[in-house]
Amino acid sequence: MAEKDRRSGYLRPDLETMDPQARQEYLDRRVREIVAHAHAHAPAFAQKMAAVGAEPGDIRGVDDLARLPITEKADLVKLQRAGLPFGGLVGEQIDKLARIYVSPGPIYEPGEKVYSDDRWAQAFFAAGFRRGDIAQVTFNFNLVPFAFWLDASLNLVGCVSVPAGVGNTELQIQIMRELGVAGYLGTPSFLATIADRAEELGLDLKRDLQLKVAFVAAEMLPESLRASLEQRLDMVIRQSYGTADVGCLSYECFHMGGMHFAQDCVVEVVDPETGRPVGEGEPGEVVATVFDHAYPLIRFGTGDLSSYTTGVCACGRTSPKLTRILGRVDQVTKIKGMFVHPSGVQQVAQKFPQVAAYQLVVTRDGHKDVMTLVCELGEAPADSAELKGAMETAMKEVLRVSGAVEVVAPGTLPQGCKVIDDRRNWD
Ligand SMILES: [Zn+2]
Repeated sequence: MAEKDRRSGYLRPDLETMDPQARQEYLDRRVREIVAHAHAHAPAFAQKMAAVGAEPGDIRGVDDLARLPITEKADLVKLQRAGLPFGGLVGEQIDKLARIYVSPGPIYEPGEKVYSDDRWAQAFFAAGFRRGDIAQVTFNFNLVPFAFWLDASLNLVGCVSVPAGVGNTELQIQIMRELGVAGYLGTPSFLATIADRAEELGLDLKRDLQLKVAFVAAEMLPESLRASLEQRLDMVIRQSYGTADVGCLSYECFHMGGMHFAQDCVVEVVDPETGRPVGEGEPGEVVATVFDHAYPLIRFGTGDLSSYTTGVCACGRTSPKLTRILGRVDQVTKIKGMFVHPSGVQQVAQKFPQVAAYQLVVTRDGHKDVMTLVCELGEAPADSAELKGAMETAMKEVLRVSGAVEVVAPGTLPQGCKVIDDRRNWD
């Protein structure tokens, strides 16, 4: 059989290659429709609109979404406790549902009888899954929706799913060998465990396994791990980003360079304080609106920080891309008007192997924020002024805020201190 072309094509060419103006009009129409549906069928959403004095007719499209409040995960828990099971957020009668999923919280989530949302399926196709592939789902099938969504989405691409669930490494390897499994869905670390165990069992990873493509999620994917697994298993590994509440929001294509916004949902990146969209390249909270009639979440705040880029991708998809996930909103600190996250501080410190411990201290001088990176050095540098200068330049580049570096004696910083110590007093 000829090798499948896994690098080109689209699951939904009409949507994935749409020009930006046409996409805007399409999404505006979808937003009007879901807002009207949610307002009519989900009382909690109707109350949220009433609270800001908005009527369905006021929301004419994507740009008007900024008028509506953001719903965070904590709000879901609160609404549900006040009105079990779904807190007035569900837009269908219970007999239209196939399942009730339970996510940590606990949060109860409706599962529609006919699963037609193809956003995960778009991600699979972009990674290289193709019709006829046998694919093994190694995510947890217990209570939470994710693995069920993936199982149904594989069918939407024309793949055959093996609902393997977590663990049982040797059985997983046996299934992969005996069925000629081409697709892996799971965490990157479990794929590494599978590769290690298969080698311990004396298997040749490229000859005895026929893996071609992996869809990984739920963990960070270090580029070094991706490169080593792709090389060892002779396969392509791609990742996506989404949540158990709103499903797939973005995914990598063959060409990578970020994760394309999934089609048929609205992804916004907003200032966590004002809820207003930020510009291209600026960090903000990822906020999603999905067009699911059973569970019409509108402006759901993921709590994750990212930024987006626009431009033409070599794959032909025209949607913007999320850059990597930068961290969580609740750990972000606003300094001199810019959001600074612990991961950014870590990124600065890691550029300098001499730095043994560090903490970013934020204080006020009159009405100005002052940012100081306090460091302990492993050994005294030949030229400490030069090192401080280089670190201050790196701070400005990475954090986009200027600050000073202060070197202190080893043992000054407390063990395991928090990365950002905000000492500003706003009284
Ligand atoms: Zn692309």
